[in-house]
Amino acid sequence: MRLPKFDYHKPGNIQEACSILKGHNGNARVIAGGTDLLVAMKHRVKAPAHIISLKGIKGLDTINPSSSLSNKDSIPLSPPLSKGNSGEFSSGNDTLTIGSLVTLQSVADADIIKKRFPILSAAADSVASQQIRNMGTIGGNICLDTRCWYYNQSKEWRDARPPCFKTKGSVCYVIKGGNKCNALYASDTAPALIALNARVKICNSENTSKEIPIENFFTGVGEPVNILKQDEIMTQITIPNNSSGGAETRGAFNKLCFREGLEYPVINVAVLLELNKEKICKNAKIVIGAVTSSPVRAKNAEEKLKGKKIDEALIAEAGKTASKDISVIPYLWASPGYKRKMIEVCVGRGIRKALEKD
Ligand SMILES: Cc1cc2nc3c(=O)[nH]c(=O)nc-3n(C[C@H](O)[C@H](O)[C@H](O)COP(=O)(O)OP(=O)(O)OC[C@H]3O[C@@H](n4cnc5c(N)ncnc54)[C@H](O)[C@@H]3O)c2cc1C
Ligand code: SF4
Repeated sequence: MRLPKFDYHKPGNIQEACSILKGHNGNARVIAGGTDLLVAMKHRVKAPAHIISLKGIKGLDTINPSSSLSNKDSIPLSPPLSKGNSGEFSSGNDTLTIGSLVTLQSVADADIIKKRFPILSAAADSVASQQIRNMGTIGGNICLDTRCWYYNQSKEWRDARPPCFKTKGSVCYVIKGGNKCNALYASDTAPALIALNARVKICNSENTSKEIPIENFFTGVGEPVNILKQDEIMTQITIPNNSSGGAETRGAFNKLCFREGLEYPVINVAVLLELNKEKICKNAKIVIGAVTSSPVRAKNAEEKLKGKKIDEALIAEAGKTASKDISVIPYLWASPGYKRKMIEVCVGRGIRKALEKD
């Protein structure tokens, strides 16, 4: 399959890249590893006239721990993920900054991530295959396009029916009578990063930037999938220390797929628990991916765990609550009923895995 024709740009800094994006009025796209974009272009799902590579921009491919996080000797092995007291997970001052061009394999292999944020390491390591992880970047994984059985097809297939919301039409073939695109967002790292309270930095053509919680990065609809404006690029991800003394923070990442490798998730679940010395759950985060157009928090299930010592009965209750609360998009390869059941199972597995040390 051949790529459509395009002009290739390799700017030397972010502002230049953002200005090229702005100058081409929606007809330009950023490329990082290209493992998602080039496939979409070969299928004519996307056909931008301009491709802007981020690879000429210095500093986007590094992992930078701040002060005490970089002192490897003082980093506790996982689990526990970190030590902290009650309250919010993100009250520590130290942070880890990951450039958007860092490859998924580097994220999976980095010692500091394995030790301090093992759920991110596990999530990155679960993506596709070694070859794709060597090329694919964490920024590209977060900015991943949504997928749909009607849309990710050949141009001939798509042309045989009126355009849907994803391609500026006014129907959805997945949810008949629906008023928005319901395509699936299936990134593996995004749920883990939400659980870890990560923030993303976004730069624009005016040479200004903002940092927002990654949880607010997604629109909740299939098109547009994220809040990036036409001239904006994500440059880095910052993860707080998630520690503040007194309690233990433990996590788990769980991915269900039909094959062992080269496979998008049927669902994925990231769990982060904060336990005090008496093993009472002070705080919980449960984030579920690949069931709808953005990762979703199972907030009622989180509430069930808070203030209690977690036992099998509570785990079962949390799984059932998550499964009942989260609306699942019908998808060809897995029915909503199956996915709902698997949410219950995977949330349970995630909580048990996070508690495993006991
Ligand atoms: C066979 C196969 C299996 C796969 N399996 C999985 C899987 O199991 N789990 C999973 O999560 N993904 C999977 N993927 C999707 C993809 O390979 C990964 O998500 C990868 O991380 C994408 O990163 P990239 O750098 O290659 O992105 P690119 O293809 O370069 O870009 C992806 C999108 O993000 C935009 N973009 C990239 N970087 C930025 C940035 N810094 N700022 C703003 N926009 C940006 C691009 O414009 C594009 O729209 C799979 C892909 C294939 C082909
Ligand atoms: S979910 Fe609906 S609108 Fe979105 S790509 Fe699929 S058919 Fe089109």
